[in-house]
Amino acid sequence: MELQDSIEIVRNIGQTRAKQLNKMGIETVEDLIEYFPRSYEDRSKLTSLDAVNIGEVNNFRARVCTKPESMRVKALTIVKARLSDGKGSIEGVWYNQPYIKNMLIPEKEYIFTGKVVEKYGRVQAENPDFEPVRENSLNMGRIVPVYTVPSKMSQKTIRGCVKDALDGVHSEITEFMPESIISERKLCGRSYAVNNIHFPESDYAFFKARRRLVFEELLMLQMHLLQLKGNVTGKKSAVRIRDYDVRPILDSLGFKLTQAQENVIGELFADLRKGNVMNRLIQGDVGSGKTAVAMVLAYTVIRNGYQAVLMAPTDVLANQHYKNISEVFGTLGIKCTLLTSGLRRKEKNTAYSDISEGKSQMIIGTHALIQETVEYNSLGLVITDEQHRFGVRQRESLAKKGKDPHVLVMTATPIPRTLALILYGDLDISIIDSFPPGRQKIDTFAVDHSYYRRLYAFVKKEVAKGRQAYIICPMIEENDNTELRSVLTYTQELKDSIFPELRVECIHGKMKNDEKQEIMELFEKGDIDVLVSTTVIEVGIDVPNATLMIIENAERFGLSALHQLRGRVGRGSEKSYCVLVSDAKNKTSLERLKTMCRTNDGFVISEKDLELRGPGDFFGTRQHGLPEMKIANLYKDIDVLKEAQQTAISLYKTDENLKKEENKLLKTRISQLFEQKIKKICL
Ligand code: ADP
Ligand code: MG
Repeated sequence: MELQDSIEIVRNIGQTRAKQLNKMGIETVEDLIEYFPRSYEDRSKLTSLDAVNIGEVNNFRARVCTKPESMRVKALTIVKARLSDGKGSIEGVWYNQPYIKNMLIPEKEYIFTGKVVEKYGRVQAENPDFEPVRENSLNMGRIVPVYTVPSKMSQKTIRGCVKDALDGVHSEITEFMPESIISERKLCGRSYAVNNIHFPESDYAFFKARRRLVFEELLMLQMHLLQLKGNVTGKKSAVRIRDYDVRPILDSLGFKLTQAQENVIGELFADLRKGNVMNRLIQGDVGSGKTAVAMVLAYTVIRNGYQAVLMAPTDVLANQHYKNISEVFGTLGIKCTLLTSGLRRKEKNTAYSDISEGKSQMIIGTHALIQETVEYNSLGLVITDEQHRFGVRQRESLAKKGKDPHVLVMTATPIPRTLALILYGDLDISIIDSFPPGRQKIDTFAVDHSYYRRLYAFVKKEVAKGRQAYIICPMIEENDNTELRSVLTYTQELKDSIFPELRVECIHGKMKNDEKQEIMELFEKGDIDVLVSTTVIEVGIDVPNATLMIIENAERFGLSALHQLRGRVGRGSEKSYCVLVSDAKNKTSLERLKTMCRTNDGFVISEKDLELRGPGDFFGTRQHGLPEMKIANLYKDIDVLKEAQQTAISLYKTDENLKKEENKLLKTRISQLFEQKIKKICL
């Protein structure tokens, strides 16, 4: 048997089973032995029958001491047999499995595993699985693997197939990890790992096997990403920056940059000075001042004769950026253009020609920026704001509009650095790790609906002080008319009976752009006291006079959305508050709310989010285009991930292309893995 043989060579796999397995992506013997168990059952410890644990699964060795009898009770066929191990006895009961009667041979010894219950004063083993006593059983008396199986295949069958495959290719499962890494990281050998991940000899063997395989998987992924990044970062840029005089823009910003902002700008300029294409991610918590950093960079690129574009995920945010940036850039003689799908035909056409003729130098907009009709004159810099809303694809299509422009990506979804390295493996990372001065902690409270009266009084008090408030109502589907109606009704109620003396308005995703913009302008000017909103304001909006954020049905938002929403207040020097209203009782929701009350730190929140949701959900797996992991879990295996990253980085430093003799096998393995992936995706 060979690794690349079709699985039909395995005993007990005929055409039918092969087809079923093919559907799960298992085609070769190698695929099969790398099809790792979903979980395990510890059947290694046998219980004697005078000491069974009622209500739990027990494993025991026993003799069949009565001839199994079968009876019918209504529609049920019941098979019963008395089982004994010398110390005690128990009744085995099987429902609707009439064939058991002939399978169990009186006086013969078996190993059983099944739940033991007490019914009508009798202790019974319910539907226990069993097997004659034998050496080296795959199913009994050991830690047993449990696989995700095709619907018509039993665990026993697949265990047998995997075992047959493992034995068949035993000598072919060879080591490809360099000896130095194995000893440095104290890894077990590959053959041991593969055998013990399926049929662990002991807990310890399982632990060693899993750690080795997780390390291997993460190392290869990380190495691959480093190599990809190497291909991008080496690239010379055609965008030449000679003039770095940023005094004019710094003088026009209206504030002094924080040390953290200056540091990041320093990193950006260092990229530009190298003459290579910049590919950088800026991470900075909500309100840390990413926009100002982007503006300084854009200003520099523009002063050197190029265009810069900024793409935002929503119209509202694009409008806000346009307003703020054109205010500053206008005084510096830089022409800004807004391009969103909401513009009128005529406005759009003017925008197109201004952009293609190079009249406009700073272009701000939404997805409309990557439409085919848009032609840029001399694109030098592409910035995407709130990156987690865009896929890698969109970032690329924007960059393709120019000739290798510099790329800057901004995100407020802080992720642990280790994960960022994986998810944004092709980007360099800068972090804005402090806030502009004068920011205060946003006090956060979780309350239920019985607090309404006090809450409304609080709103009035804040407004009386000259402040403004947001009330967020969740609308999970922006198309859901019932939910929209309830937001509108609620707004009306607030206007008519709860806050008759206040100026209350509503903004939601179904409004026309002009309407949205008008409302936002009124709110910014302070002409609206209370803004009721669906989540259109989730990202980016900046109105420093707003000090109170009320989130209704807070249990319906994820942690990072809550954090984003809360980030809409606490942007000025006044004390700000966030109130999470929820009647939810379930554990995860409560934990989310508790986390919000406890901390304002985006990193802590995102780690918690990751823990509660798992990385798949967290990022939307499809968006970031990561290969699916066979065994590693990016959250649980964070420690191994760190080790794998360190190893990958030092490996990359000493032997970038894995040309050295000792690294050759690893290299082959990595390229096989990722080429296979690509082939599968293309098919
Ligand atoms: P985010 O990082 O969430 O995008 P913004 O760029 O919107 O944050 O900045 C948040 C607020 O802080 C804005 O009102 C901005 O004008 C202000 N700001 C940014 N940098 C500074 C600074 N160095 N000093 C004072 N205020 C600043
Ligand atoms: Mg922002």
